Amino acid sequence: MENNRVMKQKYKKNIATAALIFFVGIVCITIFQNNKKRQATQSLFAMDTYMEITAYGKNSEVAVAAAAAELQRLDALLSTGSNTSEVTRINQQKTANLSDDTAYLLERSQQIYQDTQGAFDITIYPIMKLWGFAGDTFHVPTQKELDAVLPGVDMSVLCYQKENKTLTIPEASAMDFGGIAKGYASDRAAEIIKNYGIESAIMNLGGNVRAIGTKTDGSLWRVGIRTPDGSQPYLGTISVKDKAVITSGGYERYFEENGIVYHHIIDPKTGKPAQNGLVSVTIVCEDGTTADGLSTALYVMGTEKALTFWQQYNQVFDAVLLDEEGNLYVTEGLQEVFSSERDYKIYRREK
Ligand code: ADP
Ligand code: MG
Repeated sequence: MENNRVMKQKYKKNIATAALIFFVGIVCITIFQNNKKRQATQSLFAMDTYMEITAYGKNSEVAVAAAAAELQRLDALLSTGSNTSEVTRINQQKTANLSDDTAYLLERSQQIYQDTQGAFDITIYPIMKLWGFAGDTFHVPTQKELDAVLPGVDMSVLCYQKENKTLTIPEASAMDFGGIAKGYASDRAAEIIKNYGIESAIMNLGGNVRAIGTKTDGSLWRVGIRTPDGSQPYLGTISVKDKAVITSGGYERYFEENGIVYHHIIDPKTGKPAQNGLVSVTIVCEDGTTADGLSTALYVMGTEKALTFWQQYNQVFDAVLLDEEGNLYVTEGLQEVFSSERDYKIYRREK
């Protein structure tokens, strides 16, 4: 009898414990699901462009706010248009101790300059000013005007001491990180978002897209590449996870004079808008800084050199190139993830 009662009590206790575990489980799953569904979006204007960050999951609000603050901080540091930025101070004083961000960007820019044989060159700023891309008043410079500033456009003459991060630039030179800053900013912002434990986020910094993880359902992010004239449908879409998808196009910033279009991606050798056959270059890479630098550089190189360059670095990045004739080239690494309503050529690795 006694034994039976003890057993019954034990039985009840077990049922109660099981019910409690079940209940706590349901609560946990509900919180988890709700956290997963949680979404925070922030829009801002920085680096001369409209930006948007969206993150999902627990802490998404704080993560997005911290990422936006980082983008504003980098804008204030790197902007050529601000009198108080570090870049403006260097350009005026010609010598400076660099902050960690600027030192990193300078070192990465030097590497890209070398790898691309000068197609990417941050000392382009005097040329940007001459054309009016750095201000509001556009102007088509004469050859004489170009010749007067071109000697200053040469990254190889910057004097940088890595050990103590000091930089001295020639009197005629001035720097502009515009070709790489947004890619770097997207890397920094992504790092911050990930540090909040976020596994799913997407940001668009004026056409510079950065995917963090996958969508909340585990599927890949689909990034559309716009057509140069803005017409629909997209040039194509690329499905990615943890990647930067960055596009450079002459259509991003330009002006027209006497029926001729002048855009903001400059060939450092001539000081004129690059006209080497490409109208849009998209780079897909894990590192946004690389993607941004290369999108500008490959645009300057033109189709043939850009594709040869890819053969050399096909482990690092992939690309989608659109030329003036409307030919669309997609490098082999994107074969499975690129889709388009247009015809396109898959450009393969040389064996
Ligand atoms: P966007 O800024 O429209 O995304 P890019 O990444 O191609 O496009 O950057 C263009 C900017 O890069 C220009 O506004 C200028 O600041 C800078 N730039 C232009 N030509 C070059 C070049 N050959 N090398 C490095 N930077 C460049
Ligand atoms: Mg770029």
